[in-house]
Amino acid sequence: MNQDTLLSVEDKVISNALKIRFYPISVASAFGTRLMDAAGVSYLDLSAGWAVAGIGYGNPRIAHQLKQQYESLSFTSQLTIPEKNMVGLAQKLIEIMPGSFEKKVWFGHSGSDANDCVFKLLPLARNRSRMVSFMGSYHGQTMGSLSLSGHPAQAKFIGSGNVLKVPYPNPYRPPFGETTALTSQVIQYIENEVFRTVCPPEDTAGLIVEGIQSDGGLVVPPDDFLPELQKLCQRYQISLIFDEVKVGMGRTGKWFSFDHFDLTPDAVVLGKSLGAGLPISAVVARKELLDTGSGVHMFTASGNPICSMAAWENIAILEEERLIENAAENGAYFLQMLGELQQKYEWIGDVRGRGLAIGVELVENRSTKAPAAEKTAAVCYRCFELGLIVFYVGIHSNVIEITPPLTISKQEIDLAVSILDQAFKDLESNSI
Ligand code: PLP
Repeated sequence: MNQDTLLSVEDKVISNALKIRFYPISVASAFGTRLMDAAGVSYLDLSAGWAVAGIGYGNPRIAHQLKQQYESLSFTSQLTIPEKNMVGLAQKLIEIMPGSFEKKVWFGHSGSDANDCVFKLLPLARNRSRMVSFMGSYHGQTMGSLSLSGHPAQAKFIGSGNVLKVPYPNPYRPPFGETTALTSQVIQYIENEVFRTVCPPEDTAGLIVEGIQSDGGLVVPPDDFLPELQKLCQRYQISLIFDEVKVGMGRTGKWFSFDHFDLTPDAVVLGKSLGAGLPISAVVARKELLDTGSGVHMFTASGNPICSMAAWENIAILEEERLIENAAENGAYFLQMLGELQQKYEWIGDVRGRGLAIGVELVENRSTKAPAAEKTAAVCYRCFELGLIVFYVGIHSNVIEITPPLTISKQEIDLAVSILDQAFKDLESNSI
């Protein structure tokens, strides 16, 4: 394949990956799992606003706390004056992140600036200059976080050259061509092809991973992968960082996606649903990893009392209303229903997920697995017309991503599946 062909293939992947459709509505209000447009039409939201509305929209407990908070203390900059909500939130995050070591918390506004925090402070703390991340990963839009990202949509930006991207073990599209021994293939690749050549472990500060690769296509790695990855990092004393911005905070049926495997990362990155819709992100890490950074990665309004209050109350709601348990139970039900739908349509190549982080991958046919990007966009758009909000992700733009509020009920799941079914029927009859 010559350079021109390579470039045009890459262009195609990038333009597919960036092709996000905007639905022609103007949302006027939202409550629970539903959005309402200005004309009063209601939509069931299977995206939760790209996984931000974890506890659903317009939670009255948060609304009440925010009003009181604004009236009593609207702002202090935490850079100089610590305030009780931020301190309480930090203590709570330290409590739910596994590991009995001393921890520290950094606050920001977005998943991107939190990943920048990791990229900026970790190499400084470890006195090492490189990082490892995964192909297909998405860590954000800022220069640091896009440098960590391995998503093709990010490939045209220069970013930092100090990040080495390694294959993610995708069971449906195995990077080395075989599904057996996927974990050991990837681990051995990192050890033999990366650490022994271009990225010596003694100069590698950390390895950042998504427990489920979300924008990369809701890819769930084999069960032995994350434990083996932790062992690898421990063998070479490389810090292990989990980017839990999308799949953390209960979405997979446990606090964090790595909790399914009893792991203890050195740092965890949080964002999106942490603030129940308010902009707050956090890095919870071993104390020594964040100590060196005091005063070098900070923003005036980071950890402000309003956003901290929202996040603190959000955690209380997740616990008291047993929403994480709901994500586990109803997520399993959703997967089962989608599995049944897969029996009906050849285009559904794969259904996978954990809790309420679910991906439905569309292919032209099951034997070639050729990605069906156009059909995926058409199905999502038809769902929208039928009152269901879903988006698609993936390096081939062919995975319907299902990340609803954790409050979703079985009846709502039945409704969602019946709308998806109708959209596939319409695709089959060429009416969309
Ligand atoms: N990390 C992951 C895993 C994400 O999915 C995202 C956003 O989709 C980010 C980081 C970036 O978060 P933000 O858009 O809040 O900057």
